[in-house]
Amino acid sequence: MSPNPVTASPTMPTPPPRRHPMGPPRRSPASAGAPQERRFNAAPGGAPRPHYGNRAHSGSRASMHARPPASGPATYSAPPTAQPIAQRSAYKAHANVNAKYAPNFNTAGIEVHRSIRVNEVFEPLVTPTADSDLKLKIYALGGLEEIGRNCTVIECGDDIIIIDVGLMFPEEGMPGIDYIIPNVAGFKGREKNIRGVIITHGHLDHIGAISHVLPKIGNPPIYTAPLTAGMIRGRHEEYPNVPKLNMVVVEHADERFKIGKNFIFEPFHINHTISDAFGAAVHTPFGTVLITGDFKFDFTPVNEEPADLGRIAMFGSKGVLALLSDSTGADLPGHQISEQIVYDELDRIIAKAPARLIIGTFSSLLTRVQIILTLCEKYGRRVLIQGRSMQKNVDLAHELGYLQFKPGTIISEDEYGKYRDEQLVVLCTGAQGEKNAALMRIATGEHRFLKLQEGDTVIFSSSVVPGNERSVQRLKDTLVRHGASIVHYANMDVHAGGHAKQEDLKLMLRLTKPKFFIPIHGNRFMLAAHGRLAASVGVAKENVFIADNGQVMAFDVNGGRLTEERMPAEYVMVDGLGVGDVSEIVLRDRTQMSEDGMLVVIATMEESTGELIGNPDIISRGFIFVKENKEIIDKTRLLVRKILEASDHKSPVFDEFIKNKIRNDVGQFLFSQTKRRPMVLPVIIEV
Ligand SMILES: [Zn+2]
Ligand SMILES: [Zn+2]
Repeated sequence: MSPNPVTASPTMPTPPPRRHPMGPPRRSPASAGAPQERRFNAAPGGAPRPHYGNRAHSGSRASMHARPPASGPATYSAPPTAQPIAQRSAYKAHANVNAKYAPNFNTAGIEVHRSIRVNEVFEPLVTPTADSDLKLKIYALGGLEEIGRNCTVIECGDDIIIIDVGLMFPEEGMPGIDYIIPNVAGFKGREKNIRGVIITHGHLDHIGAISHVLPKIGNPPIYTAPLTAGMIRGRHEEYPNVPKLNMVVVEHADERFKIGKNFIFEPFHINHTISDAFGAAVHTPFGTVLITGDFKFDFTPVNEEPADLGRIAMFGSKGVLALLSDSTGADLPGHQISEQIVYDELDRIIAKAPARLIIGTFSSLLTRVQIILTLCEKYGRRVLIQGRSMQKNVDLAHELGYLQFKPGTIISEDEYGKYRDEQLVVLCTGAQGEKNAALMRIATGEHRFLKLQEGDTVIFSSSVVPGNERSVQRLKDTLVRHGASIVHYANMDVHAGGHAKQEDLKLMLRLTKPKFFIPIHGNRFMLAAHGRLAASVGVAKENVFIADNGQVMAFDVNGGRLTEERMPAEYVMVDGLGVGDVSEIVLRDRTQMSEDGMLVVIATMEESTGELIGNPDIISRGFIFVKENKEIIDKTRLLVRKILEASDHKSPVFDEFIKNKIRNDVGQFLFSQTKRRPMVLPVIIEV
């Protein structure tokens, strides 16, 4: 192995003293190195660099990141139809940052470390030779056979990096399961090799399993952007008994981090439906691996920078070993629409709305929230926010400076009554038809003080998440029944999705020109569609790896292969406080009980003689109503009595035998009478 050529530039003050037993994140041993700092992408003309967070910067650095004024030559200025709305003042001093959320302060519940910047070495840290047995392995612990549970792993030598630790919501046939998390059994005994966890953005399918999984794998440092860090922190607070997290907050989209002996990580800016989303470039001894995370290209985004096409192209020109790209939209032709189009459409609707407006969207869709707040200011409307998750995210984003609005734009419940209908907008959660969310409660008349009325306009500024179609339809029916008129994405452009469609995916492929292509984030169907797209823009067919969860792709000096090696990737289900304790058998029982109910048979026997004492008790739940089905119950009792009398209670296997016999015979009898298969639970008490 060659010596580490990376030197850190000491532009940062000394990191806070370590407090957590896991210690600070690994950092360059040469952190006291030369003070020179070469900017990797110091583009001629000083083009602005995407930048995460919104904290004050001083001196030349601040001016270096200064965004050109809206009237300047910015290539991404808004089209003339739109006001240049609340562009994120990412580089200005910002009075609004509350120490509670400021990412580099040591916040309650999470240990936050300063990021360590390394300089601009692009060469791999280690140069493999033909005879070395160094290998690069890439596999996913989730996200290749489903939407959700995103978790990708890169291994090289003794170093492991994990990208995203998401959850998945249960499918049909998983009654009672809260969600499903990645299986980390494959790391057993190798926890110390996990050098870092990179989190691309704050959606639950990327952060949702962190609090469950990280304590199990040695609590490695998390590399992520400020808003994502805040959202992880908010979620982690709900688990007071797990250790603090180690955070390394990524401040600039082109910062570089040495992780372990073999990796350099460098985020690159992309667009998505949440601020601060980035893709991850991981430079390895065998070449650069790009993981897009969830992404779209938005050339006219609202309140954030457009995706950094120049940087993505630069990776391509330097050579990309493998591209792992978001497949969520791989089946959809065309381009994803821009947030600017949503802005224009909402502008028209809000301008014309005759009375009160009720707008439902995702609580994490903060760029949309910004559009709505800006338009409300434009038309003199006040905004009432309803929904705990929405309120929480708005507070966090406002404190970090991602959401900008004038004092008084958002009003409290007490102030609500002071305004006329045409001055009001209710911004709420529940556009997916969720039962207890604000919009549903308004629709069903269960809301504490908001009642639907003739003239209300309800906007669904979101897509319908697959699986929620029916509840959304029911919600719309209820709203219409009460006289509201409805605007949704199918009849107006009131929602832009967060995922690249086919033409955007081709652009990503063309820009990065990867040698190998690995579609991620989607069902097999979507991955296959994405694989075909890659082949259509010139990736060699045999270099497109459509893998299963856990299936290892291996790379060395001779090239890459999709191997038959598999890491454990089975579902780990979370139910209440239990993690992984609900097995397939438990699920089968739950499904059976939910379909046909259960019947408990309790028989009491004299221990010495084996004689039955009294009549067996029968309890039915969810099967039949006992009082109205006396005949079946009596016949069942009789059957149990006969079975007990006919068996030898002295046999050593009596207990096992008799339970099986009752289960089978009673089960068959009940099926013959009712054509139902309740779960039969025999209980034998010997006294
Ligand atoms: Zn996402
Ligand atoms: Zn996602």
